[in-house]
Amino acid sequence: MISEKEFENSIKNILEYIGEDVTREGLVKTPSRVRKAFEFMCGGYKQNPEEIINSALFTSTNDEMVVIKDIEFYSQCEHHMLPIIGKAHVAYIPNGKVVGLSKIPRVVDVFARRLQIQEQMTEQICDALNNALNPKGVAVMIEARHMCMEMRGVEKICSTTVTSALRGLFKQNKKTKDEFLSIVSTASIK
Ligand SMILES: [Zn+2]
Repeated sequence: MISEKEFENSIKNILEYIGEDVTREGLVKTPSRVRKAFEFMCGGYKQNPEEIINSALFTSTNDEMVVIKDIEFYSQCEHHMLPIIGKAHVAYIPNGKVVGLSKIPRVVDVFARRLQIQEQMTEQICDALNNALNPKGVAVMIEARHMCMEMRGVEKICSTTVTSALRGLFKQNKKTKDEFLSIVSTASIK
């Protein structure tokens, strides 16, 4: 276990490494602010997605596609710890049970608030819903911008990375998959 003090000392070291004066007024509280920011941005390690889903499961005879699109999220890439900013689109087809709608964005955040690569995050959200809901199908699509590609590296501003994960009917049935893609590609009510 790393203590709060040890974390804050590491931030002080980074500040010194880049040439900063850690004693100047604006930076004195920075190590503790950074620690609190990381506790929030990486809070997903302490959360269990299945518990969140199981806390709001309801019996239902509905077996039509449920789609929640444009779920904004903020994550960090595991290679550079720089922001990944994007939107997730999640769909499932119930199989006797539906989940409270607010739980789906919460599941997205559980995985976004960890160090990630986009491909893995897409699969993790999909598998968590698939395991907890046992639905007829699940689809997750993520569109995101990666600051490690924009602020550094290839410096490609406004390129978007799109990933998807499909289970059950979304994978087996082309019509179901196409219906999902057409819903997520049409404009939202704004
Ligand atoms: Zn990166």
